[in-house]
Amino acid sequence: MRVITLLLTAFMLIACSQDEEAVPQKEIVDLGHDYFSFANSDQFVTSHIALDLTVDFELRELRGLATLNMQRLDPTATDIILDTRDLHIDGILVNGTEAAFEYSEQDPVLGQALKITLPAGLEQQSDFKLSIHYKTDPTASALQWLPPELTAGGEHPYMFSQSQSIHARSWIPLQDTPSVRITYEANIHTPANLLAVMSADNDPLTPRSGEYHFNMPQPIPSYLLAIAVGNIYFAPIGAQTGIYTEPEMLDASTFEFSSTQKMLETASEIYGPYQWGRYDLLILPPSFPYGGMENPRLSFITPSVLAGDQSLVSLIAHELAHSWSGNMVSNDTWRDIWLNEGITSYLDSRLMEVLFGEDRANEERVISYRDLLQGLTEISPVYQALAPTVRLDDPDESQGSLHYKKGQLFLETMEEAFGREVFDPFLTGYFNHFAFQSISSEQFLDYLDENLLTAQPGKFSREQAEQWLYQPGVPDYARIPHSETLDQAERLAGAWAVGEVSVDNIPMSDWSPHAAVHFINNLPSDLDEDQLGELDSSFGFSATRNAEISRAWFIQVAKRRYQPAYEAMETHLNRYGRTRLIKPVYVALAKNGDDTELAHQLFKAAKSSYHPLTITAIEIGFNKAKQGL
Ligand SMILES: [Zn+2]
Repeated sequence: MRVITLLLTAFMLIACSQDEEAVPQKEIVDLGHDYFSFANSDQFVTSHIALDLTVDFELRELRGLATLNMQRLDPTATDIILDTRDLHIDGILVNGTEAAFEYSEQDPVLGQALKITLPAGLEQQSDFKLSIHYKTDPTASALQWLPPELTAGGEHPYMFSQSQSIHARSWIPLQDTPSVRITYEANIHTPANLLAVMSADNDPLTPRSGEYHFNMPQPIPSYLLAIAVGNIYFAPIGAQTGIYTEPEMLDASTFEFSSTQKMLETASEIYGPYQWGRYDLLILPPSFPYGGMENPRLSFITPSVLAGDQSLVSLIAHELAHSWSGNMVSNDTWRDIWLNEGITSYLDSRLMEVLFGEDRANEERVISYRDLLQGLTEISPVYQALAPTVRLDDPDESQGSLHYKKGQLFLETMEEAFGREVFDPFLTGYFNHFAFQSISSEQFLDYLDENLLTAQPGKFSREQAEQWLYQPGVPDYARIPHSETLDQAERLAGAWAVGEVSVDNIPMSDWSPHAAVHFINNLPSDLDEDQLGELDSSFGFSATRNAEISRAWFIQVAKRRYQPAYEAMETHLNRYGRTRLIKPVYVALAKNGDDTELAHQLFKAAKSSYHPLTITAIEIGFNKAKQGL
């Protein structure tokens, strides 16, 4: 019933969006404008940022100087507006002359606009430098400051950033919009025994001195600015690839991610040369909120994919694939994020297919498709368009993971229509054409139309492409992925539940973690406690160190209120900080009808080891659960 009501609302909105007079003004998005930034980047644009920052673990702050090279686009403009969040600014110089500045009121999502009035005499000047002396707040939303006890080694503090989507503004005053691309350099001062790394030209041979210099010569959007400081060491994987992490995780990481160099070579063969020099991985402490973050030249990776058997390395394929889609060709605004995540999800599954075979790639495609179907029941239809024409509330939340999975399916459907022999060169041409630019969904659509749809007529129409971009749900001609192994897992889950097969006949040890997850997700809803106990004792779900199996199992434990596994569930919630692994368990617990209070208690107890972004995401989950969403 609820789904039908929502669908009706969506169709009304879409119908309305074609009829401007019938739509309230706030529903129409100015498609080219990034409404998640205050910056007047149509009047002034930043080309380069130089940072000189001291990393102070005692005060939990970065402090120093940011120098922005600015170019004037509008000769009449007199004020520069930058994005900030909780920054403390001591003074601003424009070409060496002190400039007046003021903040707007705090916005809970956007932070504060910083208005800088250009000193008199600069009206005719087209290029100038803004020098901003500032420090960050200990609560900066991009930064996590870990005490030694929350690191693998337990002896040294650790700090890392997560700028996407709109958190760079909490550690650097800047034009925080993906439509502006910048090069950057940085001098970073740290305690002498720690190493700093950035999304830049990390040199594996850098001496550990506490004084580090970085340069990023390719222009990147601000959400790819990244830094980490800790007891970090390096080990090579291949000629261009290596691992940075704490010494305690170095051996496990080099083994787990040994396929990285091969992945890079495979991707370069299909989609054109890798454009960024080195590609290294930084394996972070457990509180890293995401699976991975595609910071250029240095992907930030959760340690939760250290499964010991390379079974979760599709994450590396994903972050690496961003070197083409996302980092090289970026989304112009956050409504275009599917160009980044959807195309990358398509590419990562192609890489997995070459490296680990079609069966495994298909298993992952089916899991992604099932997640998409689930997402369609949870995400408001107005946000189900790949490129929504209504305003998003929050770039980190509104679409869930729908833009990844629906975007992937869109490309797989087109791939099927044209064949890989046509579709692969098309994508390579697309990456070349828009290299180091930020583009909108409409620019993609026009390029697609001209170079594929019209060039190869009769296979896939512009109207069909627009259906994916602007309408909710999934078209009925979508290419549905299929996996024999997952079908078997699903069949056996049902057959075991009704007593047709015994646990001994379930080949769990032969299955990939994806098949195990699929088995768990397809267990019927009416299992009794003895049956859940039989599964747990036969397959060791509560004790597994495979984070994906653990996640799937504890969601079921929480949903079904299977109390014998609650202690192990608490261990899971304390072991991982990655939002994907813990938020759905908390939410399932809060929604099972009896354990809302317990969910809040467990969260309160574990919270100090979570990243601010994870905390916010779980709190949003709790609030939605409270409203019955
Ligand atoms: Zn991604």
